[in-house]
Amino acid sequence: MTTHQRNFPSIDPAKLERLGETAVKVGLRLQPGQDLFLTAPVAALPLARAIVAEAYKAGAGLVTPILADEEITLARFRFGPDASFDRAPGWLYDGVAKAFGANTARLAIVGEDPMLLANEDPAKVARASKANSIAYQPALEKIAGFDINWNLVAYPTDSWAKRVFPGETDDVAVGRLAEAIFSASRVDNDDPVAAWTSHNAALGRRTEWLNARKFHALHYSGPGTDLTIGLADGHEWQGGAATAKNGITCNPNIPTEEVFTTPHARRVDGHVVSTKPLSYQGSLIDGIAVRFEAGRIVEAKAARGEDVLKKVLDSDDGARRLGEVALVPHSSPIASSGLLFFNTLFDENAASHIALGQAYSTCLKNGDQLTPEELADKGANESLIHVDWMIGSSEIDLDGITATGSVEPLMRKGEWV
Ligand code: ZN
Ligand code: ZN
Repeated sequence: MTTHQRNFPSIDPAKLERLGETAVKVGLRLQPGQDLFLTAPVAALPLARAIVAEAYKAGAGLVTPILADEEITLARFRFGPDASFDRAPGWLYDGVAKAFGANTARLAIVGEDPMLLANEDPAKVARASKANSIAYQPALEKIAGFDINWNLVAYPTDSWAKRVFPGETDDVAVGRLAEAIFSASRVDNDDPVAAWTSHNAALGRRTEWLNARKFHALHYSGPGTDLTIGLADGHEWQGGAATAKNGITCNPNIPTEEVFTTPHARRVDGHVVSTKPLSYQGSLIDGIAVRFEAGRIVEAKAARGEDVLKKVLDSDDGARRLGEVALVPHSSPIASSGLLFFNTLFDENAASHIALGQAYSTCLKNGDQLTPEELADKGANESLIHVDWMIGSSEIDLDGITATGSVEPLMRKGEWV
């Protein structure tokens, strides 16, 4: 048994079981007979096992797991030949895309060390990531297009826990991260399925209101920030549970607090600063300050990880434009925890954020029936990347601007008006 397979007594087994149940019944809403493709870190085996058991109890056809290991990932960076960093297992992703095409559901357990690659050559990290993005594209298209029900859920691995709680012993760190995950994922009560039903209803009321307002743009102001984000023509706000093209209503992210939509890739102007560090493929980017002109980032700085940020921005043509805008009140349970998780699934739900890169066609009216040209025409961005970073805080004011130019306050000091 390696350190990565240790059982931590500080993880409440009852809550872990409820998290597995929530992932399958709420996150995926897995249907009888439906196949499931599951990826997880080896260190998250206890949750992977719970999920597979729940999936079969729910009538899963066939569950296929693929596990990743941090030491194995590092071995490539330490000993792999240079040419390997421009390669990725396209054959595997083609198979995954084929499975998604046959209505296989997708579940990923996150929990890897967010700083795993922090000491590796950033050029190699960027090359490996780009090769992977290209190879993954056929499968990612089906996720981004919401062809199938999918879900992300988190497990408190020891390597991640020690990043969040660096001063604690392994056991205490894991216990504290476990409680934070359980509480944010709403499994710290007897009936998580009911808790999610009412949370989804609250997010649904918010998106309905925003969709009725049909704002033309949003304006953010705060320290270092004066930014106008145009919204795509025919944009639709989403949040909480959503219905995939296969007809299954699922909760892709557990936890989730955001309502989000598609910005207009050519109508973003002004400057904005990040309010939380961004953990990007093993590197930390902090103190981001960028300026947009006609939708494009024309100046970019970062207090830390600027070289990584520049590589992200140079990934492709769409990497300098926005693909998502999301609103989260500062009082969200994840923000109130005061923790920095170094993981987008959690940190993006602690603050309002924007994402560079690919837009979700599902956030446009009839988006799934539009051609790539029609989507671009409405302002939806296209890119191989989708990188969320936080711009919300208790100091940000947000206004909605209508097509006629009238201004309506939406958030003051980070809270819904
Ligand atoms: Zn988001
Ligand atoms: Zn995003």
